[in-house]
Amino acid sequence: MKIDFDNSYAALPAQMFTPQLPTPVANPVIFARNVALAATLDIDLNAPDAAQIFAGNHIPDGAAPLAQAYAGHQFGSWNPQLGDGRAILLGEVIGSDNIRRDIQLKGAGPTPYSRSGDGRAWLGPVMREYLVSEAMHALGVPTTRALAAVTTGEDVYRETKLPGAIITRVAQSHIRVGTFQFFAARKDIDALRALTDHVIARHYPDADGPAALLDAVIARYAQLVARWMGLGFVHGVMNTDNVSIAGETIDYGPCAFVDAFSHAALFSAIDQQGRYAYANQPQIAAWNMAQFATSLIPLMPDRDKAVQDFTAAVHRFIPIYSAAWLQIFAAKLGITDPGPEDAALVTDLLALMDRDGADFTATFTALGSDQARDQFLDREAFDKWAARWKPRQAADAQAMMAQANPQIIPRNHQVEAAIQAGVAGDFAPFEALLAAVTQPYTVDEGREKFTRPPTSDERVTRTFCGT
Ligand code: AMP
Ligand code: MG
Repeated sequence: MKIDFDNSYAALPAQMFTPQLPTPVANPVIFARNVALAATLDIDLNAPDAAQIFAGNHIPDGAAPLAQAYAGHQFGSWNPQLGDGRAILLGEVIGSDNIRRDIQLKGAGPTPYSRSGDGRAWLGPVMREYLVSEAMHALGVPTTRALAAVTTGEDVYRETKLPGAIITRVAQSHIRVGTFQFFAARKDIDALRALTDHVIARHYPDADGPAALLDAVIARYAQLVARWMGLGFVHGVMNTDNVSIAGETIDYGPCAFVDAFSHAALFSAIDQQGRYAYANQPQIAAWNMAQFATSLIPLMPDRDKAVQDFTAAVHRFIPIYSAAWLQIFAAKLGITDPGPEDAALVTDLLALMDRDGADFTATFTALGSDQARDQFLDREAFDKWAARWKPRQAADAQAMMAQANPQIIPRNHQVEAAIQAGVAGDFAPFEALLAAVTQPYTVDEGREKFTRPPTSDERVTRTFCGT
């Protein structure tokens, strides 16, 4: 296989990463290939050595494998030393769309940043990331992508023995808020400046310095989190090391889409306090931007002025987010030019949905039909709400809503069912689910089951980082 690498991160100062080869695995077998993404990158996934390459057994010419250093706030606590503990960047490729992307193997073996971890991933999280990241892309949400996935033929040990797997992840870059924090905390101004210049050139060419970079990252991240909210998506682990500077959704560990709506929806088994619950996401995102701002301060000539300016910039996060949120939810209701009364319409609907446990995705798709009130226990309350809503709808509300409200999202019980089958060696449910979630606005024949909320027996309320 030939991959036309063009590596820029590997040319940055040496303290920013460690050259690191993947650790070979016993018997790699490819079970998922993203042919469309591969075409953009001019990669032939059907090449005979594809499984060997995407398992890390063969290093293609031009690759410069490395593990990136980063730090981060995990659940609010500072951790000065994280880094790619089980991910290895093979290199970068400039696609036919002229976008530079990282190609990274996740689960490819230990690195100097692994701490006590084994550097591996098991099949479940690999399948979850593949399904959910590709669904997000199909839903128009900026995200890392999945290029390929292999089983390794080796076991990994978590609570039990599980099949090992490696996902090849593609991102505009894997640079995080935590990457900036790593160098700011070490007062390594040279690396911090090199990183900033690299990020501006790569992701924000219009930014003329750290202040403009901060503004631009805030704007992208606010839009991103608003998109999550509009889909009922709970990221689950919004640590600063999981915040992409390019504004992509990254780290699909404990994420899930909410079925029965609750503002407190939370799936991560390790988030005892509910720090990353659905409704907390915007405030946490603003807090993450405050950490990013803090990490840029050492670059500024006048510290006091920078603190003032950057504080003001961080305070703009919620207004930008709120405006994006209103546009997104207004479209979901078929409303153009939304005003403050429409914001109240949305929050009132969400309050009713929360009180009655209405299914998030099914309620919004049903609002385009007469079945919406069936989602509610208190139908009178819904009727009253609908009487306020109807006069606000645009003439082409039905068409707007059909485009704004997906019918198929990767429901947690379906993801879990696909994982269970995959662990047993049957990837047909994974393939069927992947095909459905990557066409989220249409329900082709045989796909009705993917629109259906879980029964009480099927509900999956916990996801595990499972790392
Ligand atoms: P995450 O919770 O996935 O964002 O991971 C947090 C940190 O733990 C990152 O630095 C990961 O690289 C590291 N990590 C997670 N799982 C493993 C593992 N199995 N082996 C080594 N490092 C890991
Ligand atoms: Mg992570």
